[in-house]
Amino acid sequence: MLLGCIADDFTGATDLANTLVKAGMNTVQSIGVPGPALDVGETDALVIALKSRINPAVDAIEESLQALAWLRENGATQIIFKYCSTFDSTDNGNIGPVADALLDVLGSDFTIACPAFPETGRSIYKGYLFVGDVLLSESGMENHPLNPMTDPNLVRVLQRQTPNKVGLVDYKTVSQGADAIRSKFHGLQADGVRHAIVDAQFDDDLMEIGRASSDLMLITGGSGIAMGLPENFRARGNLEERAAPALPSIVGRAAVIAGSCSKMTRAQVAYSKSSWPSFDISPNAIADGKDVAADVIDWVKEQDENVPVLIYSSADPADVSIVQEKYGRERAGEMVEATMGEIAKGLLDLGVRQLVVAGGETSGAVVQALDVRALRIGPEIDPGVPWTEAIGGVPIALALKSGNFGAEDFFEKSLGMLP
Ligand code: ADP
Repeated sequence: MLLGCIADDFTGATDLANTLVKAGMNTVQSIGVPGPALDVGETDALVIALKSRINPAVDAIEESLQALAWLRENGATQIIFKYCSTFDSTDNGNIGPVADALLDVLGSDFTIACPAFPETGRSIYKGYLFVGDVLLSESGMENHPLNPMTDPNLVRVLQRQTPNKVGLVDYKTVSQGADAIRSKFHGLQADGVRHAIVDAQFDDDLMEIGRASSDLMLITGGSGIAMGLPENFRARGNLEERAAPALPSIVGRAAVIAGSCSKMTRAQVAYSKSSWPSFDISPNAIADGKDVAADVIDWVKEQDENVPVLIYSSADPADVSIVQEKYGRERAGEMVEATMGEIAKGLLDLGVRQLVVAGGETSGAVVQALDVRALRIGPEIDPGVPWTEAIGGVPIALALKSGNFGAEDFFEKSLGMLP
């Protein structure tokens, strides 16, 4: 293994793994720190998906250090700490505290913080983070329920999270390419800067920043920062040219579980409902104590094995608010997630081996219920969403997407790619 990655949430980890695969590295994503029994096989990069984004900083640090220890024991020579491209964090952390703890253990005193990914609308100029055409603090992120981002200046934001000095590599330097960026890193280090926010306007900038970062023990940022790193390993002769990743060749019944209520997932459900048998999960029925998972499985048994089944709880915002007011946001979410997990287990018993899941939290619940420990990352289906194959346990092909990802025909397209 060459590159070890620590991601602070599940779908962010998949996004990073997908970026690495596209840049030519074989990649495995593990759910949590791999246990002793897990054999991940040969891999160029390993991404450990934590659920540490909104944990208290002490817990996030502990989990991240455990991940770091595993990655180093297994040969990683460079570490990425991956967080959200909208720098999701509060003044208490966790980006600054985790980055500091990782640097301490690595015995290093400099890293970069670059959440930019221009292709997906995240760019940084003079330290200010833009989402599309607007500042982070006008992008809707200022209203985030858990980590409202009201200050778009990342130098200030990160400085509030660390006692160490935060600096900036501005666009004037970045536009001059890797050598200029690298000398700026040295200059900042000489001035006592420990974390440098790095401007980026175009994806090509990320390639130059990647090149300039070849000697850094730790790199922090969004998934875009990974684009330029594989080339460093190739240039040193450590990474061979890789064939495009193969699709999972797992044959079996196909199903879709949609627990996201996002606009795109609702459009995807509406699109596929017209061609496949579908089951609409009612949160009220779950709350009334009905065994909805058993009802769904009985229903699946009656369906044609050769046609995918669609099981969804996706509802429009008005219906979701009614349910949330009745049961509380958290309880409503947990009820549906637990049912989706049970359904996934039942589907596996019925021979489903090709499963698409819509929703970040829903994906987490399904993966946990199926006891999936790691995923080998395959080819991309739609931007940011790859096919994956579970490693260890029952072989199953999984496409796990966060709510708003993928085009309207995503379910059909993804299952249509498999044998
Ligand atoms: P996204 O990726 O779109 O955020 P998630 O799966 O992460 O999707 O989150 C959706 C949340 O909404 C989950 O906790 C899910 O259980 C919950 N949920 C799903 N359907 C309903 C519904 N009909 N009413 C209320 N909550 C729901």
